[in-house]
Amino acid sequence: MDADVIVIGAGLAGLQSARSLQRAGLTVAVLEAADAVGGRVRTDRIDGFRVDRGFQLLNPAYPAVRRLIDVADLDLQSFGVGAIVRTGTTTTTLAHPLRHPRHLLATIGSDLTPARDLVALTRWIGPTLLRPTVASRASTDATLRTSFDAVGLTGRLRRDVLDTFLAGVLANSTGESSANYVRLLLRSFALGVPGLPSGGMQALPEQLAASLERSAAGTVRLRTGAREIREIAEGVQVVTDAGIVSACAAIVAVGPQHVGDLTGLPAPATRGLTTWWFRATGQPRTGPFLLLDASRPGGGPAGPIWNTAVISEVAPSYAPVGQHLVQATTLLDRPDGRASEADVRRDLARLYGTETTHWEVLAHHVIPHAVPVQSPGPIDRGPAWTGKRVLVTGDHRETASIQGALVSGERAARAVTRRLG
Ligand SMILES: Cc1cc2nc3c(=O)[nH]c(=O)nc-3n(C[C@H](O)[C@H](O)[C@H](O)COP(=O)(O)OP(=O)(O)OC[C@H]3O[C@@H](n4cnc5c(N)ncnc54)[C@H](O)[C@@H]3O)c2cc1C
Repeated sequence: MDADVIVIGAGLAGLQSARSLQRAGLTVAVLEAADAVGGRVRTDRIDGFRVDRGFQLLNPAYPAVRRLIDVADLDLQSFGVGAIVRTGTTTTTLAHPLRHPRHLLATIGSDLTPARDLVALTRWIGPTLLRPTVASRASTDATLRTSFDAVGLTGRLRRDVLDTFLAGVLANSTGESSANYVRLLLRSFALGVPGLPSGGMQALPEQLAASLERSAAGTVRLRTGAREIREIAEGVQVVTDAGIVSACAAIVAVGPQHVGDLTGLPAPATRGLTTWWFRATGQPRTGPFLLLDASRPGGGPAGPIWNTAVISEVAPSYAPVGQHLVQATTLLDRPDGRASEADVRRDLARLYGTETTHWEVLAHHVIPHAVPVQSPGPIDRGPAWTGKRVLVTGDHRETASIQGALVSGERAARAVTRRLG
């Protein structure tokens, strides 16, 4: 045997599986098809900028992040606690009054936060804020849309702020996601301030990989795609581009779209988005806030962009000194999700009130499988055995998030350790 366990996939789930297995005293070989660890959490260096492959954030309040990650070592650069909301020609900054007292009057005086909505929101999320386990009961779950309607959260706070913000986070503009999952997500936003590591989001998986012990099996084998898994009497064989690797068991942590390639399980449904990254000229100013566009009558953006931010104002390490990095997110469940560069540029000009003709595109990431669909129902189903010795895990078995991926990795390692005795 080359190792006790083979982990296929070096995203967050696979890396955390490997860490937990090693802590349980087992030897591990991690096979990764790509040229680096991270899976959906990767960062490129482009002309001195750090460009994540798809805009995402790390929330230090995720319970698994608190437990498993050395957040201080990542040197998080935090977003502002709030958002800028664009409605037609009006721009309003809604922000936490204690953290951003400058925006206190605008926030409490805004007609985006009617008292009726605030009361309904408190009723909706209050129990989960006090006790997160209440949001784990599948029997109480519903779609986000139905659940907001049920508590009377139907005014502008819902339509212009929450629906727009959550559509970007969930890559879903129709409110079909699990309300319980969103309760847990918003709880994390209430308890922590998300940010970006100074080294880019990829610093997160790199931290996990760096903590793995080197073993004779060669801990993470990059550019080593698994093609087939064979269960044999005494264990498993994984056929890779570089030969056969054998072990007592295998954990498949390949991301939802690849599950079907290696197992008999159907590929879980996913949702997609695109991120445009621009080097901006001039000085687009939003401070450290996400800018949401809710200019369409009835809710949602007037153009293809659901949210945008001047990332270099949040995370100076993402841009060379004196330069500006802007991200803009579009959703693939909308007809304009694949809008042309010209349309995106035009939309950015409207949102920032500035000329964008000379903004340079640094990258455009089209990510059809950004997150698994998180429908109402059981939130944490746990890993799935597809044979006696092969276990499937990843964010699609828990919650569609960094939190879900890390927990899924831990749970898979525990299940395999138990089975191997
Ligand atoms: C644009 C975007 C924005 C996001 N925003 C957030 C956010 O703000 N907050 C949040 O919590 N979450 C966010 N997420 C979700 C989060 O990134 C994922 O939930 C998490 O990274 C999933 O990790 P994973 O290990 O389950 O899967 P993956 O990261 O997909 O890892 C799977 C790995 O398996 C490898 N692989 C595939 N097939 C094979 C094979 N045959 N052999 C070997 N290796 C293989 C892949 O190369 C990959 O490295 C976002 C995701 C994206 C894409």
